Amino acid sequence: MADFIPVNEPLLDGNEKKYLAECIDTGWISAEGPFVRRFEQGMAAAVNRKFGIAVCNGTAALETAVAALELGPGAEVIMPAFTIISCAAAVVRRGCVPVLVDSDPVTWNMQVGQIERKITPRTKAIMAVHIYGLPVEMDPLLAIARKHGLRIIEDAAQMLGQTYKGKPCGGFGDISVFSFYPNKHITTGEGGMVLTDDEHLANRCRSLRNLCFKQEKRFVHDELGYNFRMTNLQAALGVAQLELLGERIARKRHMGKRYTEVLSDISGLQLPASTAPYAENIFWVYGLLLKDAVPFDAEEAMRRLSVLKVGTRPFFWPMHEQPVFRKTGLFTGQVYPVAERMARRGFYIPSGAALTDDQIEQAAAAVRELMR
Ligand SMILES: *Cc1c(COP(=O)(O)O)cnc(C)c1O
Repeated sequence: MADFIPVNEPLLDGNEKKYLAECIDTGWISAEGPFVRRFEQGMAAAVNRKFGIAVCNGTAALETAVAALELGPGAEVIMPAFTIISCAAAVVRRGCVPVLVDSDPVTWNMQVGQIERKITPRTKAIMAVHIYGLPVEMDPLLAIARKHGLRIIEDAAQMLGQTYKGKPCGGFGDISVFSFYPNKHITTGEGGMVLTDDEHLANRCRSLRNLCFKQEKRFVHDELGYNFRMTNLQAALGVAQLELLGERIARKRHMGKRYTEVLSDISGLQLPASTAPYAENIFWVYGLLLKDAVPFDAEEAMRRLSVLKVGTRPFFWPMHEQPVFRKTGLFTGQVYPVAERMARRGFYIPSGAALTDDQIEQAAAAVRELMR
């Protein structure tokens, strides 16, 4: 009998042990250690940015990026309804207002065509969040931002190694963020990074992640910062993981291709689009969407797959349906039909870096069994 297939297992088969041993042998374990700078430079090089600022997780990276931009109280930030809470939370915590747009039913990313009608005199920024494997359509989004003088925050947490028209994701807009949670393309256990080409923003991020200590007078503060520092231990993992990024991406694409081959004739399933005019899917995760004719929802599908020993995760739950925001009246009466359908009909199957070919076949066979 085959074992249960977890939805994600990280792969730590490069120089992770060696670099961690270096931290322990030298005593450099805090954020002052040399791997932090190496990891920042490696990430900046990987996505063609001037500055990298390592932080303790991707959510902290978003908080730092939004704070660095000084958008001002009441500023509106346009973002997809279908995303992780971290995006909206970072905006709300700075006294700003998230303004939502629905998703594209094929690419699952924000419908860039809906952005312009959401712009008001208070709009200050757009948060572009790349979802699951294909990038947001950046060219028209960049044009809108230029036309209206808006800042761009690019959340590329799921898209390290992906490109948009040949240019690395994480290299667009004023500031971008990554996460190194264990299900991301590279992991540091917990970890995140802010990237920018703007030296002023880079300095603000460095200060914000480190309690806004003043350089001249350490324990005197002009602004409230955070302790979002990344440790040398985390960065040591990051440097080792980054060395194998190319292999990880090749492996994800192999997985996506194989799942698509095995599942494409199942009429009740919408599979991830393999390509868009501007990118090949990187398959951060392999998502499935149950078509309307299927008589059960994602929750039931995930329950049945778990009986078949296949791990799954639900899709995101849209921001306008979050109880935490409903309570405050934010998004009252708003409807985003594509995001709502994706939340109820979508889930993803095992997609981690350590997934073997046998496990791909086994998981795909279980999905076929589910849909019989
Ligand atoms: C994972 C993720 C985050 C949050 O990163 P953490 O490291 O888990 O805090 C933010 N945005 C997106 C799109 C993500 O996928």
